[in-house]
Amino acid sequence: MSNGSLYCTFCGLPFDAHQISAAIVPHDCIDSYAPWAYDDHVINEKQVAWIDDFRLMTTKEDLIPKDNFTTLDYNVEISVPAFWGEYERVRIEGEITEYAVYGSPSQPGFIFRVPAHDACLKIAHEVMKWRLQNFEHPSDQDSPGGLLHLYNSIAERKKDRPYEPNMWFNNGYYGAMQYWGQPWSCELGGEWMVADPIKIPSLTNEMILKLGPFEYDSEQERSVFSRNQDLSQLEKLPSPAIDKILENLDWTSIESLRCCSISACNAFKPTGKFWKDRVLDNRVVPWLWDLDKDLVEKIEVKVNWEGLVRSLNKKHLFENEELPIGLRNRIRISKVVLDIVI
Ligand SMILES: [Zn+2]
Repeated sequence: MSNGSLYCTFCGLPFDAHQISAAIVPHDCIDSYAPWAYDDHVINEKQVAWIDDFRLMTTKEDLIPKDNFTTLDYNVEISVPAFWGEYERVRIEGEITEYAVYGSPSQPGFIFRVPAHDACLKIAHEVMKWRLQNFEHPSDQDSPGGLLHLYNSIAERKKDRPYEPNMWFNNGYYGAMQYWGQPWSCELGGEWMVADPIKIPSLTNEMILKLGPFEYDSEQERSVFSRNQDLSQLEKLPSPAIDKILENLDWTSIESLRCCSISACNAFKPTGKFWKDRVLDNRVVPWLWDLDKDLVEKIEVKVNWEGLVRSLNKKHLFENEELPIGLRNRIRISKVVLDIVI
């Protein structure tokens, strides 16, 4: 990254990286210096077009022009596309005013603004929606949920470093930071960090086929335990009743329940259908909101759904080079967003 650049709060990509689309170099010139250059065998201009749409997440009081179409179900406001201005400032097409990013709390009329790509805001929105639906109690009034919660968390973190132009996270943007010494120059292997994280061709197929068909063990569904006399009343319940109980528990609770005894481990083993439903209902990972359910039903390979869920939850799944590069980038950005609110 070049000194003085402003970068996206969520993906870490410099704000002026729109030059990337004009500077992709041919494979045989990859050794020559060219800022923002990548191997065009790995990534093409279409896959980096998302970088041009850069916004500011802000409040209702802010005078910066807002995009009414992107704010419909957000509880914060999103600006119209912004452009690179001076240090730490952006401008809006047709406007003379330049707007400070993050802002300085000591200035009168201070408004905290979060710079981010439109694509990254979309991911942040989905991640926060997932978090709210799966982990937060609806009656928890102290936690507003959604992007407002995220916005407040970022503002809180920025308090510790008010005079730095950008955000600083301990996760180093999961790989992006290693390129900050110089402006993303010809780093082979780094292309996935600028790949479109929203439009991912054949996402469903790629993901299921790359991660799903493990050694299949789901045939060993819940079996009747031989020592019936040792079973608790709960373990003796018929399978449909146990399924109902499991449906209302999160994964961690099920794992804890199964750790109680060998018989509990067997009695409360979720079925393959249980795991499949969780994947299709977007309850497994925050970044899988657009799985094609109809296509899943048509996939002919036998999928080990439990194995798939465990794979999807691997700590550094974005390092898996078999996955589409856009998906790897989406997972990376989702992790940055989640780290902010943990
Ligand atoms: Zn971004």
